[in-house]
Order: sequence, then C-alpha cells, then structure tokens
Amino acid sequence: MPYYHIWTIGCQMNKADSEQLATSLERLGYKPAQDIEKADLIVLNSCVVRQSAENRVIGKLESLKKLKKRSPKMIVALAGCMVDSEVAGLRHRFPHVDLFLKPAQFANLLDIAKTQSPTAHTRFTVSRPAPTAFVTIIEGCDNFCSYCIVPYRRGREKSRPISEIRCQVENLVERGVKEVTLLGQNVDSYGHELPDKPDLADLLTEMNTIKRLARIRFLTSHPKDMSQKLIEAVASLDKVCEHISLPVQAGDNDILQAMRRGYTAQYFRELIERIRRAIPNVAIATDVIVGFPGETQEQFQKTLDLLSDLRLDTVHVAAYSPRQDTLAAKKFKDDISLPEKSRRLQTIEELQSRIASEINAQLQGQTVEVLVDGKKKGKWYGRTRTDKLVFFESNARCLGQLINVEIKRTSPWSLQGLSKT
Ligand code: SF4
Repeated sequence: MPYYHIWTIGCQMNKADSEQLATSLERLGYKPAQDIEKADLIVLNSCVVRQSAENRVIGKLESLKKLKKRSPKMIVALAGCMVDSEVAGLRHRFPHVDLFLKPAQFANLLDIAKTQSPTAHTRFTVSRPAPTAFVTIIEGCDNFCSYCIVPYRRGREKSRPISEIRCQVENLVERGVKEVTLLGQNVDSYGHELPDKPDLADLLTEMNTIKRLARIRFLTSHPKDMSQKLIEAVASLDKVCEHISLPVQAGDNDILQAMRRGYTAQYFRELIERIRRAIPNVAIATDVIVGFPGETQEQFQKTLDLLSDLRLDTVHVAAYSPRQDTLAAKKFKDDISLPEKSRRLQTIEELQSRIASEINAQLQGQTVEVLVDGKKKGKWYGRTRTDKLVFFESNARCLGQLINVEIKRTSPWSLQGLSKT
C-alpha cells in the first residue's frame, strides 16, 4: 500500500485543493502517512502571498533534501502559488523536487500516482471526511490589487457551474459532511462569466435546498462586489451562517487607492452598517495590511479608528511584504521599517484583543449551537454559526453533531462551555 503526505500552507483555497488531492489519492489506494519519512509521495502545497510564508516553504523544501537522498524513489512534488510558468529557476534551486504543479493542477501527479499504486484499479472507500468541508466555487481573481500575487499565480476568474457544485456538495453530504464553506479568492464575483450569469445569491439559494446539509458558509468577499441581493440572501436563507469575511485592508482612502481596492473607507463603513441592519447578530471578520509603502502614522491611525469604530469580531493583520511582479513592488519603495511594521501590527492586535474579548463576553450564559469538529485534550471543540471556536466537555460521542452548549467562560479567541444535551 503506497503512502502519501501533504503539507499545506496558506489560504483556505490551498487547504481545499489539498483535501481534494488527498481524496483522489485515497481513491487510488494511497493511505496518509503519519510519519513523513514513510511516505512514497510528498506534496508541498505552497503559498507565496507573504515573504514569511515563502520562507517557510523554502525551509520545508530544504529539509526534504536529505530524505530524498536517502529514499530516491520517493516522489517529491511542489504545488501551489510558488510555482509559476517559469519553473526552470525552481528546478535549478531544488533539484530534489520531481514535479512542479501550478495551483490546483494535480493531473500529472495523479497520472504518476496511478502507476505507483498496484491497486489503482480497485475501488476504495475514502476515509470518512471531517464534518466540515471546503468547496471551491471560483478559481483565480480578476482584481489585481496592487500588493497581491494571486492573479499572477492562480490566473483569471473561472466559476464552476451550479449543477457541478451541487453534485459535489450532495456527494459530501452523503459521506457525512454537515457544513460546507464555498471558497474563492473573491466569491462575490461568482458566476459572471458563466452562460446564465448566476450570482452567489443564486448559488446559496440552490445549496440551501440540499437535504441533510446543516450549514453553508462562503469566503472571501470583496467589499466592492458585495451586493444587496447577497446580503438579503444571507439574511433569509436558514442554512447560510451569519458570518461574513470582508477584508478592508486599510482605513485611509489614499492607501486604499494605492492598493487598488476600488472603495473608500466611508463606503466600507456604510456597507458594514447595511449588513448589520439586514442580518442581526452577524459576525464579521476582516483582513488588514500594515506598513503599505508610504503609510504615514496618520494614515495608520485611520485604520485604527475604523477598527475601533466598527468593532468587528475578528481582524487578521499582516505586515506588507513586496511580492515579485505585483504593481506595488514595481511602483513603490518598501519604505516602512520592519520594527515599525511590527509595532503597527501589534497595536492592531492589542486593540482587537480588547474588542473581541468584549464582544465574546456578551455570550457568557447564552446557549449556542456548535457543530463539533473534533476532540483535543479531553474536550470537544467546534464552531458556532458565527464562527466562534467553542470547547466543551461531554461523555457522549459528539463528533459531527450539532450540540447546544451553554457558555461558561469567554476569551478573545475562544469560548468554554457545557453541553446541554
Ligand atoms: S481581491 Fe485583491 S487581494 Fe484578493 S485575491 Fe484578488 S487581487 Fe488578491
């Protein structure tokens, strides 16, 4: 029986691609290797969206050199956003890598895997998936935000037809999945290049009719593309969770313009207001970049003001790092020092930790519905519809169940409670 090992870093799209690859390999008779040294096939699904991620991929690649020398028959593949059209440079730098695969393009790898597996033609049952699954609905991005490498590596937007997505989700539900997250770099532009031009609201409406599917999520949205129709669909469809991921990136209009985001800070504030009016108790997550070229202290302060006024549930903050080929890397000097970027990042994290602890404290004593994802250190854990992480104790078998939990303790990052069932 051949064994595989997939190492993944980066966005949910990469995680979805890796899940898909694991399923395909298991169908071919491969089994997941607990110990990387025992694997016949190693796939690194890479991310280069920030320098820190790229450094980790390089570290991982270096660490595989010895292993490949010891086991030359082992297949090592580098997949994901580190692989662009020009692989000669990568081949030269990492000669121990056998295959270079662009994001989500695993066909060559699967062809080779087939020849390696003596049981490739036998039907295999794929191990029972987790209660939650990612489903890619649109690949690529047409936006070309000035700092972002994604459109260069994942290409232009390409949506999957509704019928194909429905079929995949029904299949997942058949295998026990209760919650799906519909994924794309910009899900709000879903469907614009398909023949009937369905939009994300139409897709959510269709998904909502799938029996035994309990929850639907989607990410990531783009403020400039989030329509009122979509907001109303989230408000009215019972399976669609009250959770929206809406990256703002900066609170200053000049920085937003230099980032080519296509909206102003005022527009974003009004959008949040509209969402909150339509969807009571909605939780909103955002992303912020600090230290974009030329960002002054005053401009950074505007981001802080926006975050402290809007009091969003989650803020993912990252320090700007120039990415090769992007407009920002070509046009602007990366002139904010690393210590200053770290200071700004920490300032936002401290602010957000205060806000999140106040928001979560309001849940103390309330009962929330948790979809149980697993068990860690004797406690079950899972997420609420609003994407809050909850830990609780119970002697029952809770995996994959929707459990009502009474919240006893809260923190900025997670909640602790007791099962009521
Ligand atoms: S919307 Fe902007 S930040 Fe998001 S993937 Fe597309 S180009 Fe990158």
